[in-house]
Amino acid sequence: MAILLGAMGLVSLENARIIQYDLRDMNEQTLPSIDSLNNMKVASLDVFSHSMEILVMGDKGSQIHEHGTDEVNGAKQQFETNFLIYNSSVQMYFPNETHLRDHIKERWDVFANLSEKVILLKESGADAKDLFNAQQEFEGAKEDLLKTIDDALANEGEEIVQAQKAAETEIYDSLNKVLAIIWIFVIVGSVVILVSFSISKSVNDLKDAAERIGKGNLNMRIDIKSNDELGILAASFNQMTASLKNSRKDLEDKAGELEKSKKELEAKLVELTNTKTAMLNMMEDAEELNRELIRTQVKLKENLKELKALDVKKDEFVSITSHELKTPITAIKGFIQLLHSSDVIDDINKRRQYLAIIDKETVRLEKLISDMLDLSKLDLNTVKFNFEKVNLNELTESLTMRFEPKAKEKGIAFGFEIDKSLPPITTDIMRLTQILSNIINNAINYTEKGGVKVNTKQEGEMIHFSVADTGIGIPKKHFDKLFHRFYQVDSSMTRKTGGSGLGLAICRGFVERLGGMIWLESEVGRGSTFLLTVPISQKDKGIGKQDKT
Ligand code: ADP
Repeated sequence: MAILLGAMGLVSLENARIIQYDLRDMNEQTLPSIDSLNNMKVASLDVFSHSMEILVMGDKGSQIHEHGTDEVNGAKQQFETNFLIYNSSVQMYFPNETHLRDHIKERWDVFANLSEKVILLKESGADAKDLFNAQQEFEGAKEDLLKTIDDALANEGEEIVQAQKAAETEIYDSLNKVLAIIWIFVIVGSVVILVSFSISKSVNDLKDAAERIGKGNLNMRIDIKSNDELGILAASFNQMTASLKNSRKDLEDKAGELEKSKKELEAKLVELTNTKTAMLNMMEDAEELNRELIRTQVKLKENLKELKALDVKKDEFVSITSHELKTPITAIKGFIQLLHSSDVIDDINKRRQYLAIIDKETVRLEKLISDMLDLSKLDLNTVKFNFEKVNLNELTESLTMRFEPKAKEKGIAFGFEIDKSLPPITTDIMRLTQILSNIINNAINYTEKGGVKVNTKQEGEMIHFSVADTGIGIPKKHFDKLFHRFYQVDSSMTRKTGGSGLGLAICRGFVERLGGMIWLESEVGRGSTFLLTVPISQKDKGIGKQDKT
């Protein structure tokens, strides 16, 4: 900026110098002075006028008279040339004053025409009167022209002087103004250059300082002592740097504190994470405990339900047992009373009949009590088993001996179908006999025609027994319940057989304890087959030869 202003100042100075010289040259070299113009005009007009005077008035021997218009025209031409110079000078001073030149030209034309008229009249030898009149006119025109030129010169000369002076004044004024402007430009430019140099240096200092501060050097100070804006700015800058230094120290202190807090927080976070993990584990344990609790609750509910069911069953059992016990006891009691009556004492047949009934009811009572005792042992798991190696042929023989007479009595067939090569088995022979006896007894009881066949065979590690009869059969819906206590398909029928509905329940309990299974197949009206298995060896079932209960 400063350089630009300086350059502009120098250019303006050079221009002004050139203009000044141009004006001076133009004034001195181009414009003729007013005095020289007057001299030139007067001289040429005098020559012209004098030549005319000689032509018209002069003696005939003169050179002008002899040669006629040549001299006059020469004089006239000289005047015209001078007049043109004069006219162009006037035009230069007064470019707008054309009327003056036109006026003079007009007068000149009249004068020139009359001069030519006079010349022509002279040359044509016109008479003296016409020549005199023309001369008079010429003189008048000459006077007019002279007067006009004099007036014009007098006026114009003065005006030209004035104008020239005014023009010179104006030129010098303009020149002074231009010079003043140039000087202003130069001074301003210099000041600007100095100021901008100073500003530039200060700004560079500031810039350097800012760069160093930017790189982290907060010890930086700027040495600008001026009272201007830059000085204030430098002071502010130094203040800011000092403040930044303090702030940085504060920040460093705070960063240290933060780092410390961060480490503490991290330690706490680790602690919290450990606590959280421990809590999660505890929660998992608690959930597991809760699940266990729920399972236990469910089990307890089930147990409670079972207990309630058992309680109901117990009540039923007590009720049914009481009833079942009461029946034979009542019969026994009644027949004993009858035996005491006078009617019977002497009647031996009646006494035998009553005693037989008492005996039967006593057996029934005994069987009932025995069954109940067995069930109770099964419930309490106190059944004593006596395992031993048993030959199945012996078992079949003893069962045949026991049930053949009963079958014969009923008029039905009874027999065993047994593989003679069956190995001896390890079992509780008394309980196995009890089970088979109950099933065979039932088969004979509920069969009126046909017979009962017992089949024994080996399948793998098991011995299969099947007791098939051609009796009344059992509807399928009773299959499952048949093994429940006191369950009877038809109580009227059972009453006849003297059963109590406990036999099959005891059978299932014993068979399962011996390590086998019991089930049935039956068709109403065609007969039933009860099937049961027992293991050949008790070792495989984890039951030793001795009583394990
Ligand atoms: P019970 O001592 O009354 O015979 P069980 O438990 O031995 O008791 O038998 C239950 C019931 O099963 C019997 O009352 C009877 O109705 C039915 N039952 C058992 N065996 C047979 C069979 N072979 N044929 C038809 N019904 C049978």
